[in-house]
Amino acid sequence: MDRKFQAVRGMNDLLADQMPWWQLVERRARELFADYGYQEIRVPLVEHAELFQRSIGEHTDIVEKEMYSFEDRGGDLLSLRPEATAGLVRAAIEHGLLHNQKQRLWTAGPMFRHERPQQGRYRQFHQIDCEAFGFAGPDVDAELMQIAARFWKMLGLSGLRLRINSLGTPDSRRQYRALLVAYLERHRTSLDADSLRRLDSNPMRILDSRNPAMRELIAGAPALTDHLDAGSREHFERLRVLLSAAGIAHEVEPRLVRGLDYYSRTVFEWTTQAVGSQDAVCSGGRYDGLVAQLGGEPTPAVGWALGIERIVGLLRASGAAAPAALPAIYLVLAGEPAERAGLLLADRLRDALPGAGVQVGLGGGSFKSQLKRADMSGAGVALIIGDDEVARGVVTVKLLREDASQQECPWEELPGRVAALLGRGKS
Ligand code: ATP
Ligand code: MG
Repeated sequence: MDRKFQAVRGMNDLLADQMPWWQLVERRARELFADYGYQEIRVPLVEHAELFQRSIGEHTDIVEKEMYSFEDRGGDLLSLRPEATAGLVRAAIEHGLLHNQKQRLWTAGPMFRHERPQQGRYRQFHQIDCEAFGFAGPDVDAELMQIAARFWKMLGLSGLRLRINSLGTPDSRRQYRALLVAYLERHRTSLDADSLRRLDSNPMRILDSRNPAMRELIAGAPALTDHLDAGSREHFERLRVLLSAAGIAHEVEPRLVRGLDYYSRTVFEWTTQAVGSQDAVCSGGRYDGLVAQLGGEPTPAVGWALGIERIVGLLRASGAAAPAALPAIYLVLAGEPAERAGLLLADRLRDALPGAGVQVGLGGGSFKSQLKRADMSGAGVALIIGDDEVARGVVTVKLLREDASQQECPWEELPGRVAALLGRGKS
């Protein structure tokens, strides 16, 4: 029996019609990080499973139930990366990048989590991620949020909301945790199954519960922000001053905790109110203990990650025009002399009009069918060459999107003429 294969559930093919949006986001991200002096690095998609267990935490959703882990042929227990931070920290330590140096880094690529697939939630998804190492103060926290805010502006996205909180230091969090557990124990009968499970292992995650039945209980819980150590409180206050001075709107959300264990002090999340989508767009925080925990010199660190699928979804929903479709120019070649001349002529045009996009109508066929293909390519200008044109050294220029008569143009004048037609001036 022939088997028809399908993509693995939750893992998407990105077809050509999606790509202009993805390329726009990726291009802008590259510009964004260049503008802030962040350097790109790339790390493997696969790491030792233990790296994630030790960094993200044994009792987090990701490690408990979302990782793709397997034993490879050599018997090593490996995982597809569910997020980028652990790998970046591992690489930074391994290559001595943190030795007496500060680093501002970014990366992008696919991540893998075995979650229930739905709109905006997939098993292979893509993140853009940035991390700053070696900066202890709140100024870099503010800069990272400024970068995200600028990204939304570059992309024309509005309506994103920034919420921030402080988780304090491990010490202050331990004290708070005891208060929280005592409170939750007193209300044990009102806890749902998920929360009961977390009560011992990860009680702070209960604050993150999305179960409406838990809302009231959570609202009455002691607030972490009321139990911060003096240093964390000061860090948080200074961060708020810096954000306000930089014009970055934000709200303090005392119940914001993040799903990963490694955070300390600042945590933040950008959410959208657009309906029908997963609301978290970008999130991050400070993780001052992680580098040492993974065997490096103690190094303060902070970063964020955004989901590209969710950004692309917002862009498309915003009604923004799709980024320009390529090619702009389509070459119709009728007959062998034209086919012989066509490839070289196309390259001359590409030399003169880099980036415009010149597609050659390969495969021949009738004039009519070629013009139809030119039309379907999305090009604005068709350049038609037949035997007669080759003999006279001219090209027939036809505007595909406008009602205008065809014109003839000598080959040597073609780049200038086409540039003018494409609104590029004379290049
Ligand atoms: P959520 O609350 O939606 O599960 P998260 O807190 O698990 O998000 P992070 O681990 O902080 O998300 O990852 C950062 C960003 O990556 C999220 O804000 C989101 O945009 C995106 N993201 C996370 N998980 C997925 C997924 N399964 N599919 C698509 N995007 C995702
Ligand atoms: Mg999640």
